[in-house]
Amino acid sequence: MKLALHWKILIGMILGVVAGLVFRNFDWGTEFVSNWIKPLGTIFIKLLKLIAIPLIIASLIKGISDLKDISKFSSIGLRTIVIYVITTVIAISVGLLVVNVVNPGESVSAETIEELSKAYASNASSKVESATNQKARGPLSFVVDMVPDNIFKATADNGSMLQVIFFTIFFGICLLLIEPVRALPVKQFFDGLNDVVLKMVDLIMLFAPYAVFALLASLVVETTNPDLFVALMWYALSVVIGLFIMLIIYISVVTFYIGKSPKFFLKGISPAQLLAFSTSSSAATLPVTMERVEEHLGVEKEVTSFVCPVGATINMDGTSLYQAVAAIFICQALHYQLGFSDQLTIILTATLASIGSAAVPGAGMVMLVVVLEALGMPKETLMIGLALIFAVDRPLDMLRTVINVTGDATVAMLIGKSVGKLGDPKPKNWDDNLAEVI
Ligand code: ASP
Repeated sequence: MKLALHWKILIGMILGVVAGLVFRNFDWGTEFVSNWIKPLGTIFIKLLKLIAIPLIIASLIKGISDLKDISKFSSIGLRTIVIYVITTVIAISVGLLVVNVVNPGESVSAETIEELSKAYASNASSKVESATNQKARGPLSFVVDMVPDNIFKATADNGSMLQVIFFTIFFGICLLLIEPVRALPVKQFFDGLNDVVLKMVDLIMLFAPYAVFALLASLVVETTNPDLFVALMWYALSVVIGLFIMLIIYISVVTFYIGKSPKFFLKGISPAQLLAFSTSSSAATLPVTMERVEEHLGVEKEVTSFVCPVGATINMDGTSLYQAVAAIFICQALHYQLGFSDQLTIILTATLASIGSAAVPGAGMVMLVVVLEALGMPKETLMIGLALIFAVDRPLDMLRTVINVTGDATVAMLIGKSVGKLGDPKPKNWDDNLAEVI
């Protein structure tokens, strides 16, 4: 019997954790894993990132040029942005609710704060530095940044996805506006390119179970001092509860509004979720998210090609929820008084901060600085605050990335349904791809 891909990935993950725990016990274990196992995972992440930009370009041009009129596209665009902002605000509100009920900051002792702030002071200051670099650029810089001045430069940088999206939409719309006979060869080229890139995703995914093994094994051997996890247990638990509530919200939307069963949804999206967990990067997961949403959840390309890449860059429900919980936790632990209006400030700044967070590991923590600064927290306190949560950031990053990706998939289905572009899935068997090649 052939195992479904998500089971293979899950088995790879479990074996990776077990291998990591075993290798940790040997003096040479960490070095061995870093030198000989980790590279497999690194190559896999690089391969996924490698195809992200070509995939966005090909599928967005195909998506737009398949549309018969542009007005449909603007309605998709507008709905996407509005729904993304709404889901982000819901996520932050859930985070605020949970953290105010659980009160995780109360249980942290002064010794723990001291110990953690010593242990992670330098990590915290590097996060503050990155945030300062990002912030020093005026309120409209995010819009200005969206417009590239050189498309080749933009496509050469995975961090410039919004610029690539901007150019591609512009290009796709103009393709619709020129004479059809002239547009045809260009369209056919991008249609073909799209198929090639999707096939690349298929083939890369055959390697996924081994890659997640490598990623998790190296993560486990590199983790230091698990004792600190216990001290931060209530904080971590608050984030996890919040993220779980978000998952329930997504499943409810899919079940009650979209009319698809939870099993259908989770089975369709789980490989992307497992990859999000293993890589902590929604950008690296993007090719798989797009592929799953289109082929397994039945959303048509016109929608996925826009909604998924934009979502990976600006819609981070898990990250924004985490930022809300972390901000309040830090204030509670450091006895920094907050009023009701401060909670509103958190909703506003965490929404902006999650939009501004890059879809890469640890980015959410950098932008947390923006939230804390908006609360008026002085720099020294802020450093201690960041150091406080650093120890558990990676596992929480893995989980919030899962929610980021699941949120994008849910919104893609929602938009697909609302514009009549949600059909039956056309799943392909991943293993058949190899058979085809060989
Ligand atoms: N790692 C997250 C992502 O890529 C961002 C973050 O919360 O740090 O979606």
